[in-house]
Amino acid sequence: MSEPTTLFVNASEVVTCAGPPRARRGGEMNDAVVQSGVAVAVADGRVVSVGPLADLRARHRGAREVDCRGGVLTPGFVDSHTHGVFGRPRYDEQELRAAGLDYMEIARRGGGIHSSVRDLRQRSEDELFRLAERRLGRLASFGTTTVEVKSGYGLTLEDELKTLRVIRRLSETLPLRIVPTFLGAHEIPLEHRDSAASRRAYVDLLVHDMIPAVAREGLARFADVFCETGVYTVDESREILTAARDAGLLMKLHADELTSAGGAELAASIGATSADHLAAVSDAGIAALAQSSTVATLLPGTMLFLGKPKQAPARRFIDAGVPVALATDFNPGTSPTANVSLILTLGVSQLRLTVAEAVIAATVNGAAALALADRIGQIAEGYTADLALFDVEDVRELPYWYGDNRCVATWVAGKPCYTRDLGVG
Ligand SMILES: [Zn+2]
Repeated sequence: MSEPTTLFVNASEVVTCAGPPRARRGGEMNDAVVQSGVAVAVADGRVVSVGPLADLRARHRGAREVDCRGGVLTPGFVDSHTHGVFGRPRYDEQELRAAGLDYMEIARRGGGIHSSVRDLRQRSEDELFRLAERRLGRLASFGTTTVEVKSGYGLTLEDELKTLRVIRRLSETLPLRIVPTFLGAHEIPLEHRDSAASRRAYVDLLVHDMIPAVAREGLARFADVFCETGVYTVDESREILTAARDAGLLMKLHADELTSAGGAELAASIGATSADHLAAVSDAGIAALAQSSTVATLLPGTMLFLGKPKQAPARRFIDAGVPVALATDFNPGTSPTANVSLILTLGVSQLRLTVAEAVIAATVNGAAALALADRIGQIAEGYTADLALFDVEDVRELPYWYGDNRCVATWVAGKPCYTRDLGVG
């Protein structure tokens, strides 16, 4: 039996992002389709129509109404890159960086990812679940309705499966939409670093044991690799991702974050759904992505938090026709923020995007980076009713009040996901 229709009424603006069901490129990114004086009708978890309130009331008699109280209604944010399952937060490293130690030097001293790996291996599945449940609940409070969550602090078969089972439990328990990614190739584990043969043994473990086990249990939709000088080479990354693809997983790549190592070119050539970071991308990498269907996912919070002077060349990507997504990179070491509006601020003030481009990057193109652009990321007929309501009057206020959280409520498939304000819904 179908549920009664719900009308979302009295929004000062409805930012629909309506358009084709795919990643937006170039000039397409510069129109988030901001409508005033319209309401949104939702039934059975989907958007039925967007139009003048009087028309919708006439068409849907007896509909329940949600009063948006003059706020701005947007598609729920799609945070397409996080490392949301971890144990101890690494606040100690922030001061080390301030004192002049860089990310790779901290890693060489056993900090960075290795310290999160040591920590996660000691924790039980239940403990990790409780920590992540609270953290992802906070993430939802910023307007996010879909979040990708990676494994990658286990780096053994058992600990990676443990992490992915935590992610599965989160998706069964939380009202958020969660997309799981296997990132067993996040680092070369310390116990595999003493010889070339030992390193090779870990790549073999990934390809012959871990990926088949993850695919068999249906624990991930994507596989990802950290392709970077000193971590996985382009050849290793290709081998690992090709094995993942053959096992039925979609592909992502941490590419050209700190050095230009050919990651963007690899992502484009193997048909990865997204290439992420890209602050050090080469001209050839931009050209390769422009010729592909790969989304460039930029993570400006990471460069800010690491104190790096150089952000990814977002304007050059857009001008070359590469679809750009924005995400938080929420993780315990290099980007401990879940605030997508703050990422919009960095998108405009540091990456020099327009507000419309930044909003499309965090909705439609975030959805495309998760191969979900035909279902979520826009408020348009037939799309899943994933919505976020903010107590601002103009969408340009989202990046403007920087660091603030103006989200008052979200809905996933038409059902309340997060509510701050009393009385909404
Ligand atoms: Zn990452």
